[in-house]
Amino acid sequence: MTTTDRNSVSDRGTVVVVGAGHAAGQLVASLRQKGHTGRILLFGEESYLPYQRPPLSKKFLAGEMPAERLYVKPANFFPDHDIETHLDTRITRLDPEQSCIETSAGERFDYDSLVLALGATPRRLPIPGLDLPNIHVLRSIDDVRGIRESLSHGKRLAIVGGGYIGLEVASVATTLGQRVTVIEAASRVMSRVVSPPVSEFYETLHRDHGVVLRLGQAVSAIEKSDGALRVCLAGGHDELVDTVLVGVGIVPNTALAAEAGLAVDDGIVVDEHCRTDRANVYAIGDCTSHPNALLQRRLRLESVHNALEQAKVAAANICGEDVEYAQVPWFWSDQYDVKLQIAGMSQGYDQVVMRGSPESGSFSCLYLRDGQLIAVDAINRPLDFVHARPLIAKGVSPAPDLLADTDRTLKELLV
Ligand code: FAD
Repeated sequence: MTTTDRNSVSDRGTVVVVGAGHAAGQLVASLRQKGHTGRILLFGEESYLPYQRPPLSKKFLAGEMPAERLYVKPANFFPDHDIETHLDTRITRLDPEQSCIETSAGERFDYDSLVLALGATPRRLPIPGLDLPNIHVLRSIDDVRGIRESLSHGKRLAIVGGGYIGLEVASVATTLGQRVTVIEAASRVMSRVVSPPVSEFYETLHRDHGVVLRLGQAVSAIEKSDGALRVCLAGGHDELVDTVLVGVGIVPNTALAAEAGLAVDDGIVVDEHCRTDRANVYAIGDCTSHPNALLQRRLRLESVHNALEQAKVAAANICGEDVEYAQVPWFWSDQYDVKLQIAGMSQGYDQVVMRGSPESGSFSCLYLRDGQLIAVDAINRPLDFVHARPLIAKGVSPAPDLLADTDRTLKELLV
């Protein structure tokens, strides 16, 4: 569609999108796909067009993927679709009464619809020493460049946090020749998202690759020590390293919304249409707290699937459709040659059914609550993941022995 064609069709006005990340990239593409003919303005504080973050702790960190492949759309996509991009531009004020936003340079832009796609910021540990050189977090392309630079100067890496980002970095760093220690305050890795058998499998996997795991140990400070970094553990044992990565979760970017008076509760509060409590203001992706009709509760998710699907829903609703977001959440993590795929939310399960065996390197944990299948963790079992998703969406209650029976596919349970 050319600009002239667009102008000849009645449009729904100007859409302003704040945050040029993964969700925003999908949103602006979906708006044009759905026939939005008005102006689209995209503001991002980073210097980059929308890019995918999952490779940052995987192939991009490993040096196996060039930066160009991170982008969700080629650079010419934006001018070709009349999407006005404003990079290196932080939005510091939102005025929902006047329907406008303001940049840090004081420039004002009016909107007919506004989409907040602000993402999240790595959580900061309340300990001294975090601002020393060679201590990193991992959220952006620039973070990866800093980490790679530090890794090139020394061979000892401490990772604070045994969540999926910390463990993905551990798996890449060992292959880059680093001696890696993972320090985790909980008694097992990935405890927030997976059950004990899955944690145990990953602990063995990492130890087999030479990673030292310090579980149940909290970091109390980081200090300079003869050109190295001393990571002080509350239990008394210190680690001397060259580089530290802190990966202890994220905090949703809600300040812009909160200061404008929008409802915020562990994320910008939206309804099933991705609408906030202010007219014509939507929010999508990691920054939102949203209802999930399938799970019958409110969630904040940190996943690509959620970012993309909320973007599509918000775009459809801006274009005058009436679309609700109701999806089984899913997520993946790559560590060494092992792929973990998670569907559903296992929190609150009262039974775990094992399918396959951890010793074989290919197994699934299926989580039930009151007999109903609510989630799956599939480890190198992609078909279990694919088949379990519709089962979870349907809310089926299969007999545990059928779930465990590897002579049948889970698909057979979808009647
Ligand atoms: P983001 O992609 O974070 O984009 C938000 C953007 O908004 C950022 O660029 C931010 O700088 C900008 N911004 C914020 N405030 C302002 C402002 N006031 N003005 C202007 N710009 C602003 N998910 C998976 O499903 N699988 C994975 O394997 C996986 N791996 C990951 C690995 C890493 C290292 C990271 C960091 C994330 C990973 N994720 C993964 C999560 C996934 O990348 C996020 O869920 C997704 O990026 C969320 O998209 P978003 O658009 O909501 O936020």
